[in-house]
Amino acid sequence: MRTKCARARAIRSFEHRRWDHFHSSFFARRVDHLAPTARRFRRFRTRSGDSAGSLTTSICADTAYEVRAHILEEPGRIELRDLPVPSPGQGEIVVRVRAALTCGTDLKMFLRGHPKFPTPTRFGHEFSGEVAAVGRDVGHVREGDEVMVAPTGPCNACYYCARQQENLCDTVIETMVLGAYGEYVKIPARTVRVNVYPKPRSLSFAEAALLEPLSCVTHGFEGIPLCRDDIAVVLGAGAIALLHVLVLRARGVENIWVVGRNPQRARHAARVGARQVFTSGFPEAREAVIAASGGRGADLVIECTGQVEVWEQAPAFARRGGTVILFGGCAAGTQARFDTQRLHYDQLRIHSPFHFTPRAVRAAYELLADPSFAGRELISGVYPLEGLPQALEAHRAGRGLKFAIEP
Ligand SMILES: [Zn+2]
Ligand SMILES: [Zn+2]
Repeated sequence: MRTKCARARAIRSFEHRRWDHFHSSFFARRVDHLAPTARRFRRFRTRSGDSAGSLTTSICADTAYEVRAHILEEPGRIELRDLPVPSPGQGEIVVRVRAALTCGTDLKMFLRGHPKFPTPTRFGHEFSGEVAAVGRDVGHVREGDEVMVAPTGPCNACYYCARQQENLCDTVIETMVLGAYGEYVKIPARTVRVNVYPKPRSLSFAEAALLEPLSCVTHGFEGIPLCRDDIAVVLGAGAIALLHVLVLRARGVENIWVVGRNPQRARHAARVGARQVFTSGFPEAREAVIAASGGRGADLVIECTGQVEVWEQAPAFARRGGTVILFGGCAAGTQARFDTQRLHYDQLRIHSPFHFTPRAVRAAYELLADPSFAGRELISGVYPLEGLPQALEAHRAGRGLKFAIEP
């Protein structure tokens, strides 16, 4: 326990230093036009005559534009509704969403539902925005701050949190912030404490909303040794695959091969730094990788499709002693078969990361804050809040990588 407490103190002091630094250097330069949301939010609360700041739906009817949010009523049906303005409790903040990104998880939720999030439910979990209201005992975030948020936080009390496996925290998923496809979201105290970061001016809101998927990616790389002359093979060419390419490039790996079928996405993979892109299928790509590595195979193979057949083929790309990251979650109930000889006698390291820890969020934040990180390449279009169905359809049809909703 002592270790855990010491670590928690270290993180807290880091957080305070971080915010002090940003507030003194970055936010201090904030000009007044950045705070209209906070001002409007305050005025709105005052007008309602509710000192606690909670509004009813009937009050909102006069000013419905303030509180619209998409509700996933059931798989395949979403409705834009007027909802009460959320009010922050102790340790909480309310964020006015400025950009939310479409994501494969949202698409799956829309098409066939999600076991963890029964309908009807708000949805959308990749977002950034502006702090509209701050609850009691929140010291490091202020109204008007532009922030980027990873939408969960650890409880710091369970078995997993005590072992720094906060991604597996007993309550991390059930307390996830949903509702980014709406104008306001409330962030619980556990998330405010560790996973809310100040948005650098240089970053657009849409790019800043990459914090969540990028955190999953940086979590996946944790503990994986990378060498400059490694050959890395990324299976898949969607947004998650390309985020892996960007992180590999940022960490000095240049020999990156992407295998994907969609030619448009393949072009994007080359733009973000893949050295070779294969659209012709796995067997040919595997042969080329084996030949290019002197018969060895790739040092690192990263599966980014969530298809069980691709999981099964991934080890065939790896060299003896290589690492295989099985990143994409497959459909519930699926089972994969592997050649045990390869796993054992060739000592393949199989890693299948899930979600993210606060450490991974910090690593993702540092990458995004670096102007050389080309996250913007993954944003294929922008839609207003009403355009969510069209954005999800464009995502489903593979007409781009990710689409931004700007409420
Ligand atoms: Zn996502
Ligand atoms: Zn926990």
